[in-house]
Amino acid sequence: MLHFAVAGVPLSTPGSGGTVKGIEHAHSLGITAMEMEWVQQVPKNPERMDEIREAAQQCNMYLTVHAPYFINLNAKEKEKLAASKKRILDALSMAERCGAHSVCVHPAFYLGMDPSDAYENVRQATADIMKQKDTLFSHVNLGFETMGKPTQFGTLEEVLKLSKEFHIYPTVDPAHMHARSNGAWNTKQEWNDMFDLYVKYLGKKALSSVHMHYSGIEYTEKGEKKHLPLLQSDAKWKDFLTVLHERGVEGTVVCESPLLEEDTLRMQREYSKF
Ligand SMILES: [Zn+2]
Repeated sequence: MLHFAVAGVPLSTPGSGGTVKGIEHAHSLGITAMEMEWVQQVPKNPERMDEIREAAQQCNMYLTVHAPYFINLNAKEKEKLAASKKRILDALSMAERCGAHSVCVHPAFYLGMDPSDAYENVRQATADIMKQKDTLFSHVNLGFETMGKPTQFGTLEEVLKLSKEFHIYPTVDPAHMHARSNGAWNTKQEWNDMFDLYVKYLGKKALSSVHMHYSGIEYTEKGEKKHLPLLQSDAKWKDFLTVLHERGVEGTVVCESPLLEEDTLRMQREYSKF
């Protein structure tokens, strides 16, 4: 099955909000997946995670997590690198506790370095994180994201190569790829090429549990500016859904439009016509 996930608590959630209420409200709207936006910080209370797990089980909600933005696995300063690894491990272990499938992580910035040197640094940091897999996050995937700016580590090939090395799968964001390339990755042919490369690195079976992001996006030659609603963007989103269907992709596609549930349901409705 392919889920379309709302990126955070739906805007129309009544009352004071919160993740549990958000899960229940998303369910009442017919949404089957949610990404929890831990982008400022990772929640600290394990009991809250148990409540989330219970609500998600009751509502049959497929959960993923977005890890904090303040991460650079290519940081030059030891303290910054250690803090980055800790944020990722905290997110992974809390995700494990609430039953989430995968945690999306923005891996690094190049900081003017040669991409292959940056890759080596990110690889070493990832090896350190993966040493804790069995004890802290045995069921959760570490999903390195394809990034929207050329200054950010995270081309499709970088995250695929890294994922293959550590037997994990990336968070592929075709909107970021579209912005980073200043307009490419917006046709059926290109998305088929994208999935061909995905399969080349990770195998055909990997298409049965993807963690992807999608939205409209505003961009310049410097890459991503901001996410846009589907209908206010140049995204050929219906064609994208067609490719998802034709390739038999399963797992979750998080809709990162600012119109959270409205565009999630727009994609879900359109996809359900196949
Ligand atoms: Zn992201």
